Amino acid sequence: MKQQKTHWHDRVAAQRIPTVAFVAGRRATLQSEDIYEIFNPATGKPLGAVPILGEQDVNSAVSAARAAFDSGVWSQSAPAERKAVLLRLAALLEDHAEELALLESLNTGKPISDALAVDIPSAVSAIAWYGEAVDKIYDDVAPTANDVMAFITREPIGVVAAVVPWNFPLLMACWKVAPALAAGNSVLLKPAELTPLTAIRLAELAQEAGIPDGVFNVVTGTGPVTGRALGLHMDVDAITFTGSTAIGKQFMAYSSQSNLKRVSLECGGKSPNIVMADCRDLDEAALAAAFGIFFNQGEVCCAGSRLLVQDSIKDAFLEKLITQAAEFVAGDPLDPDTTLGALISQPHMAKVQSLIASAHDEGANLLCGGEQVRAESGGFFLEPTVFDGVSQDMTIGREEIFGPVLSVMDFATPDEAVQIANNSIYGLGAGLWTSNIDTALTMSKRIKAGTVWVNNYDESDITVPFGGYKQSGIGRDKSLQALSFFQETKTTWIRLRG
Ligand code: NAD
Ligand code: MN
Repeated sequence: MKQQKTHWHDRVAAQRIPTVAFVAGRRATLQSEDIYEIFNPATGKPLGAVPILGEQDVNSAVSAARAAFDSGVWSQSAPAERKAVLLRLAALLEDHAEELALLESLNTGKPISDALAVDIPSAVSAIAWYGEAVDKIYDDVAPTANDVMAFITREPIGVVAAVVPWNFPLLMACWKVAPALAAGNSVLLKPAELTPLTAIRLAELAQEAGIPDGVFNVVTGTGPVTGRALGLHMDVDAITFTGSTAIGKQFMAYSSQSNLKRVSLECGGKSPNIVMADCRDLDEAALAAAFGIFFNQGEVCCAGSRLLVQDSIKDAFLEKLITQAAEFVAGDPLDPDTTLGALISQPHMAKVQSLIASAHDEGANLLCGGEQVRAESGGFFLEPTVFDGVSQDMTIGREEIFGPVLSVMDFATPDEAVQIANNSIYGLGAGLWTSNIDTALTMSKRIKAGTVWVNNYDESDITVPFGGYKQSGIGRDKSLQALSFFQETKTTWIRLRG
């Protein structure tokens, strides 16, 4: 164990920190001289300085993407050619899995073991899956009258901007970039300002895999400068966004104020995880409930942040849950045994702490956690925290926390559970634990959420659509549904003469 710990720390000094934006197939030379510093959330120490691309630099990047698109080198290439390149990229990502996991852990504070087990392999599989898919999809011929033919074909939409958050930097990027590239588009990826490292590395590896210059660009910078410039750009055809609901709404406004660019939004959540008294295995459910809120420090859009427990089993279940919560111990993210990493930044930790304070003030009952730990590390670590007696009108019962804080509520009947579950502006995910098939099916139909997990929480792969009802967003990532967002539909009518 000690051996491995040393192993990752030994690699840090030798690890290049890629901070330069990547445009038109090379490290960008920029007009803007603005920079900002990024930090390792586990130590508070600086990792590097990153350029903020301003409007002029964004214009150059969009021009490069447009020129590449218009050249047809990628947009008009055979699907089988794009497949070959994307599969090479997936293989390169796999070859660099340790480096990418290290960069992700250093930049986000997440445990290296999680980055290796989840972030990187899921990103690889997204790239490979869309590569594999794209030469197996046929266009359509419509069932028209006999003296005409109508073809319905799909074309790449053009220049796509992907704006992503900091919680799973490479994975969120790949959910967007993979289908966008597979469909033949040119892409500008704007990573979250806090977490640009793996995005830049992805662009470098994409070039090595054979993505033509200008087809895949990474534009670094802040939301209000770089993100806004993309959102308002007259020559960006589509925005695919993951982040907060507030900024998602902003992108709808940018679209309406500019060129009516297509917008897909994956936003926030306050997902309910419902445990019925007839749950077949309370230990299994308690393990999943703890994982559902404490994995990735709770910085997960579909975190099961509201635990709804039927009152007859509540005491027994909470005892098991607290035992499972204790398995998440804040530690050095580069120690392979660490189960709980650092929160992304000091301001974010302060926001989570203020929500914890609101829970105390509003009368919730703290069952465990609640405090900052490992302050001597310089990093931003919080204990896994569980509040019982949370009501629907308390702040922590309503607002997305995006930290390791669970709100427990109880209910008597299935109707009441569904009412509480749906009493949210969000509708991203929901969990449901029951051994009764009728309960499973009737309740899952009534829950307003993009994903319902029955007798599991967080089951995930690239084959299924992912996204939200209500203010959790518009559109879906993953699966073939995501691919169609990145395509225009064209109907071509042919009049026949016999
Ligand atoms: P955020 O909305 O603050 O930022 C997301 C991205 O938008 C970043 O790249 C940021 O630079 C950019 N941005 C910020 N302000 C902008 C502006 N005014 N104009 C243009 N761009 C701007 O979100 P965050 O704090 O990075 O991430 C946390 C949020 O993301 C949470 O609400 C979480 O639920 C959500 N999220 C959702 C999913 C999902 O799939 N539904 C996945 C992960 C995270
Ligand atoms: Mn933010």
